[in-house]
Amino acid sequence: MTSAAYQHRWLDGSAAELPLGKVVCIGRNYADHAAELNNPVPAEPVLFIKPATSLCAIDQPLQWPNQFGACHFETELALLMGAGNEGEPAIVGVGLALDLTLRELQDSLKAARLPWEKAKAFDRACAVTPWLHYRDNIDLAAQQFELYCNGERRQRGDSAQMLTSVPALLKAIAPFFSLQPGDVVLTGTPAGVGPLHSGDQLELRWTPRPDEHYSFAAHAR
Ligand code: ZN
Repeated sequence: MTSAAYQHRWLDGSAAELPLGKVVCIGRNYADHAAELNNPVPAEPVLFIKPATSLCAIDQPLQWPNQFGACHFETELALLMGAGNEGEPAIVGVGLALDLTLRELQDSLKAARLPWEKAKAFDRACAVTPWLHYRDNIDLAAQQFELYCNGERRQRGDSAQMLTSVPALLKAIAPFFSLQPGDVVLTGTPAGVGPLHSGDQLELRWTPRPDEHYSFAAHAR
């Protein structure tokens, strides 16, 4: 499966002058989602990586290797990293992402104590919206987002409910993975994940600031 050329873009459609990097993800960052999958709430953040080849634009058809069982949507607040002062990574963009997950394959890999990569890091497993420039007046602890599937609300997230806040998440990532310009950080999904079906029409809604609302359409091939 080849990836359509993806490039980071801002909400106004202009290209972000950033390379494509890795995606660093956290698992089980909302207690309600950990509970729905019968996973314990972890004492330390569960981190995993998707490669740059997993990135695709939210308005391109969602697709996945469909011979391995159910593919779940996980709707997440996403961060685009850029260069900060003195080499420190800095958040330059904020958006939403779908962390696509081959759930049955993940379950069998977990049961066999094998790595998850095939279930989480496949081509186009990370569909991202265009990025909103991050500014001080975007409160990362007060981000509301929702996922609608075929007109029905399936997920509702509020970053205030994260078990590991964004600043603590960046601290937890730092000893293991340097964040470089063009990298993306996914911050975990709230409850309500479920399988995608061919033809599903999705809508991601986001309120980054009070009285500022965005809606992004997506569809499953
Ligand atoms: Zn996820």
